[in-house]
Amino acid sequence: MSRSSDLFSKSRKLIPGGVNSPVRAFHSVGGEPLFISRAFGSKIVDADGNIYIDYVGSWGPMILGHAHEEVLTAIADAAQKGTSFGAPTEMEFTLARMVIEAVPSMEMVRMVNSGTEATMSAIRLARGVTDRDKIVKFNGCYHGHADGLLVKAGSGVLTLGIPDSPGVPEDYAKNTLVSEYNDLDSVKVHFDRNPDEIAAVILEPIPGNMGVMIPVDGFLEGLRKLTEKSGALLIFDEVMSGFRVALGGAQELFGIDPDITTLGKVIGGGLPVGAYGGKARYMSQMAPEGPIYQAGTLSGNPLAMAAGIATLNILKRPGTYESLEMTSAALADGLAEVNSSLGVKLAFNRIGSMFTTFFTKGPVNDLAGAKYSDAERFGEYFMGMLEEGIYLAPSQFEAAFVSLAHTDEDVTRTLEAHEKALKMIL
Ligand SMILES: *Cc1c(COP(=O)(O)O)cnc(C)c1O
Repeated sequence: MSRSSDLFSKSRKLIPGGVNSPVRAFHSVGGEPLFISRAFGSKIVDADGNIYIDYVGSWGPMILGHAHEEVLTAIADAAQKGTSFGAPTEMEFTLARMVIEAVPSMEMVRMVNSGTEATMSAIRLARGVTDRDKIVKFNGCYHGHADGLLVKAGSGVLTLGIPDSPGVPEDYAKNTLVSEYNDLDSVKVHFDRNPDEIAAVILEPIPGNMGVMIPVDGFLEGLRKLTEKSGALLIFDEVMSGFRVALGGAQELFGIDPDITTLGKVIGGGLPVGAYGGKARYMSQMAPEGPIYQAGTLSGNPLAMAAGIATLNILKRPGTYESLEMTSAALADGLAEVNSSLGVKLAFNRIGSMFTTFFTKGPVNDLAGAKYSDAERFGEYFMGMLEEGIYLAPSQFEAAFVSLAHTDEDVTRTLEAHEKALKMIL
């Protein structure tokens, strides 16, 4: 028995499903998760010493690659000075300033410990300032696991086929209205039926949690106009897209000015961080300046701030996103070439360094489109890739991430693996 397999069977007795987050299980691809012992650059190493080219990147944060020296040094230096104070530090100010400088719509920001906390707090803020209860979210978008946001959510609930989680009171879920991504009319309907009742529209401007989706022309602009007209806040959940698709996230790419933005993943440099922020007129409503309450013992943790600052400092350097784009484009072009040489039609969505291959002809613009994918085929492909040393997310409905550490050689090896894996399952 492999060491991973042994650790998994032991863990299952102590930890539900043997994992501390459901997406890590290999449920939908019919296998057992690998236990990881370490990672460096673009590589991840399992408990049996097998080395893989990693396209999970801890589900988004590791944009620099693993164990980046400057980040490790920053964390070690911070740790020497104490790991938590429960009092403000200069580093919190520094990271706040860096985030506000980078993300166009953000005037004030508050640090929290996860993306879940960020979106949960953003929703409370929107409800608090509008004095309305209802929110609109999109089918297949994931905003963490807070009660009202688990309705028709993406990521793990989508992969595991859990449409609406037990434990979320109906009274609570009824305030969540669901629309279809890229379908403005499906949002208008809610505003027509619930005038003056909708506090916010929340979305992943570039969804990654039902597989990567690209906003169609006019969709994001339409949401901005619709929310403005009806006095609802527009919340961009950029926990995944923030500092990933551009320094200023999706809002910079598409030139949209949301009221509130949520961040996480990349801004923590691999440590637990989330953040929410936006217009000062709204953010100043948060306690202690205003009456809307939100707090956190470890919020703004010095180790996490140090990792975030080091990561953003590197991302700010000229040429970073161009370099990510070059590697990602080379990979995308190569995948397309392999597919066409084998005569397979697979939908492929990419924006910058995040992409998804869907096992359907496509096009895929929303959850319904993604669901045409042949999940069984994907599972076989996933296992084939793993066998060839390529570590992908164990789900059809997730994004793959390229990091700055991925090399031309990684791309070549990935393309060879892709060809072998496809040939095996055709
Ligand atoms: C990952 C993610 C979250 C949740 O963040 P956690 O840190 O896992 O709580 C929220 N929104 C989006 C868009 C995400 O990708």
